Amino acid sequence: MASIFSKIVTGDIPSYKIAEDENYYAFLDINPLAKGHTLVIPKMETDYIFDIEDEQLGGLLVFAKKVGKAIESVISCKRIGVTVIGLEVPHAHIHLIPLNTLYDMDFKQPKLSFTNDELAQTAEKIREAFDTIIL
Ligand code: AMP
Repeated sequence: MASIFSKIVTGDIPSYKIAEDENYYAFLDINPLAKGHTLVIPKMETDYIFDIEDEQLGGLLVFAKKVGKAIESVISCKRIGVTVIGLEVPHAHIHLIPLNTLYDMDFKQPKLSFTNDELAQTAEKIREAFDTIIL
C-alpha cells in the first residue's frame, strides 16, 4: 500500500507544497515544531533513508539544501536544523526546521498550531523564494 507521503506526491492527500522536481518533493510538516518546518522526500518510496541508493540519496540532500536556503530567506532563524527520524511515517524524509535555540529541534516539545491560511501563506513565501535560489 502506498505511504501517506506517496499519496501526497500523487495529490491524493493534500499538502502545503514547497517544491518538487522529477525525483523529490518538499511540503510543510502538518504538526510543525517551528514556522516553516518542512519535510523533503524522495518520490520513490523507501522506508529507511540509508536504504536509498547513493545517487538518489545525494540528490535528496542537494534538493533539501535548496529548500533549506529558501526557508532561511523568509523565516527569521539562526540556521536550518536538519534531522531524520522516520519512526512515524515509513517513507524516508528529511526534516528541515528553522532554529533559534536547541529546543526548537526537540521533538518532545508541543507542536505548534497554525491556521490553514497561515500554512498556505508560509508555503507560498517559501515556494516563491525557492524559485529564486541558485545553488
Ligand atoms: P517521523 O516519521 O517520526 O519523522 O515523523 C513524521 C512527520 O511527518 C511528523 O513530523 C508529522 O507531523 C509529519 N506528517 C505526518 N503526516 C503528515 C501529512 N499528511 N502532511 C504533512 N506532514 C505530515
